[in-house]
Amino acid sequence: MLKFVQIACLSTALLAPALAVAQDFDDVVITVHPVAGNVSYMEGQGGNIGLFVGEDGVFLIDDQYAPLTGRIVDAIRDISDAPIRFLVNTHMHPDHTGGNENFGEMGTTIFGHDNVRTQMEIAGYAQEPPLITFNDELSFHINGETVHVFKVPDAHTNGDVFIRFMGSNVVHTGDVYRTTTFPFIDLNNGGSFIGTIDALNLLLAVSDEQTKIIPGHGVISNIAEVAAWRDMLVTIRDRVAAAIRDGMSLEEIQGAGLTAEYDERWAASGRIGGSASMLAAVYADLAGD
Ligand SMILES: [Zn+2]
Repeated sequence: MLKFVQIACLSTALLAPALAVAQDFDDVVITVHPVAGNVSYMEGQGGNIGLFVGEDGVFLIDDQYAPLTGRIVDAIRDISDAPIRFLVNTHMHPDHTGGNENFGEMGTTIFGHDNVRTQMEIAGYAQEPPLITFNDELSFHINGETVHVFKVPDAHTNGDVFIRFMGSNVVHTGDVYRTTTFPFIDLNNGGSFIGTIDALNLLLAVSDEQTKIIPGHGVISNIAEVAAWRDMLVTIRDRVAAAIRDGMSLEEIQGAGLTAEYDERWAASGRIGGSASMLAAVYADLAGD
């Protein structure tokens, strides 16, 4: 039985020892969920994997953890025998990039924002960073449609991109948006709470009521749900701003129950997706820490 160390959405090697969790991947099953057209997402352990198949080849978004690569490939092969040509990393975190080396060895070309490669190198991650990087946007013209990859304001990290399937009307958001918890703002890798609100507004601007939205974690969503989540973040931002004007410290803000009515639905118990860490990110943006 193989045991690996999972560092879910962590940022620095400094913080890793306290939060690293020994993880057993043996029981993880990869499930493919059809979304629209030839776009699906795969659920396993870690971030949702985008899957787009067609005669030109297989296009992937993120790749979870290295021990899962074989099962991920098996799940793809149930759908398509075409070569796995391209893979885009939505951001740097290990639960989205852990399979990079394996896919690279299979001949898949891996893309990511410039900051994904930079931050992975700074963090000293063992995973292979993207082979090809870009600074703003990138378009793939495959399988009968255009796939537009574009940098969004610094949000979850400073390397977040959205991937928009123009024909199938699907957007993969990476971890800027999740349907599971509060946002996690990785301040050590350039994340921003205010930037998250800006990025969600951008997501709403490029989507319509039919758009299927694949979050980094969670289930298929839509603009109504994104707008409600964005509104919650705006409310929290305004409450923290008022508390700072009242002279409250971060510790006082974290103890003031500012997210109380949202906590049952959205607060994770730990740092990732938790209320206190999110409030620290809001405070960092607004108080200039
Ligand atoms: Zn992440």
